[in-house]
Amino acid sequence: MQDTKGVDAGLLQSRYRLTKQRAATLRALEDGRHLSAEEILERVRAQLPGVSLGTIYRTLDILRSIGLVQIFSHAGGAAKYEAALEKHHHLVCTRCGEVINVSVNEALALSQTVAQEHGFHDVDCALVVTGRCARCTDVPAGANT
Ligand SMILES: [Zn+2]
Ligand SMILES: [Zn+2]
Repeated sequence: MQDTKGVDAGLLQSRYRLTKQRAATLRALEDGRHLSAEEILERVRAQLPGVSLGTIYRTLDILRSIGLVQIFSHAGGAAKYEAALEKHHHLVCTRCGEVINVSVNEALALSQTVAQEHGFHDVDCALVVTGRCARCTDVPAGANT
């Protein structure tokens, strides 16, 4: 497993000739975090006061349609958005809600094997691993190694 980081909003803005709103939305997600639309709105308003939540949702839809933003929701929680270009999987802390991107190379091959047994095609796989993150674990990090 390895961490996958966020994207460079400035680079994407020049490559896709993004509008101010779209660029500000991407920039809000630049640190690689998974944010709800409301959290994105807060960050975008710091740059563009007066932007509405409706605008944020429309902007996120457009960014998703061109593949610059991905949506993630888990266990009925609020949808979270992130700027990520590459397919990845998620580690979710069940205590604080922290979401971490991970790549699991074996996941798709394993899903394909399972799916094939049932005659499934066009197989995709989104892995969500839950647990308690290092900060939420009672044992200090490294103490049990
Ligand atoms: Zn945690
Ligand atoms: Zn993610």
